[in-house]
Amino acid sequence: MKVTFLGTGTSQGIPIIGSDHPVCLSSNPKDKRLRVSILVEWNSLALVVDCGPDFRYQMLRARCTKIDGILFTHEHSDHVMGFDDIRPFYFKQGDIPIYGHKRVIKSLKKKFDYVFETKNKYPGAPSVVVNKIKNQPFSIGNKKVIPINVKHGKLQVFGFRFDDFVYLTDVKTVKTKEFEKLKNVKVLVVDALRIKPHYSHFNLEEALEFIKIVNPVKAYLTHISHLLGFHDEVEKRLPENVFLAYDELQITI
Ligand SMILES: [Zn+2]
Repeated sequence: MKVTFLGTGTSQGIPIIGSDHPVCLSSNPKDKRLRVSILVEWNSLALVVDCGPDFRYQMLRARCTKIDGILFTHEHSDHVMGFDDIRPFYFKQGDIPIYGHKRVIKSLKKKFDYVFETKNKYPGAPSVVVNKIKNQPFSIGNKKVIPINVKHGKLQVFGFRFDDFVYLTDVKTVKTKEFEKLKNVKVLVVDALRIKPHYSHFNLEEALEFIKIVNPVKAYLTHISHLLGFHDEVEKRLPENVFLAYDELQITI
């Protein structure tokens, strides 16, 4: 299984428009981060987690020519606003399967009403197959996906386990019961927004504590803001099995 980090930045991305913060001005490509998303691929199956405002460019950059489904963690703009750009996939493949909590689907229907239109639909609009998911394992093709229920401040968010890989973004709290699903994880991805605490995201310290408890072989941090610091400097200070993810990083599990 191959995972490509399509984006590893927080909601505004890095650099932030108009910012003169040193991290935003950095010339290191690893300090340039599009909005968070990953592409998970097996031999004949390709899934995308989230579909933020950078989706079009991310698909071009990753040379992704086919997707078998989009899984949504939650409905915040940095995770859904690229939804219209599924059109090229729809034109080629037909209705695109999407997976999300019923609240997320409701929000997509509000934001992108024309996609879900049944009468007099505009011919250029894409169509989807809606799969409402609960906190219960489900299958896509021959792959089992285990949702992990977490909290992003007060908002419910789903993380996902595929084989021995777990992707959790926009997390602040995880109930003890959910840790069962994190046993024997080889690679864990979790958000680490910045150094200072934040009401709805792990900061670096909380992310590292969480990683210690889950105890994966390797962990990668994502949903990074410029306030975490320069990629190369932050990475030097991390435990030896923890890394900062960066855009276009590919890992094989
Ligand atoms: Zn987010």
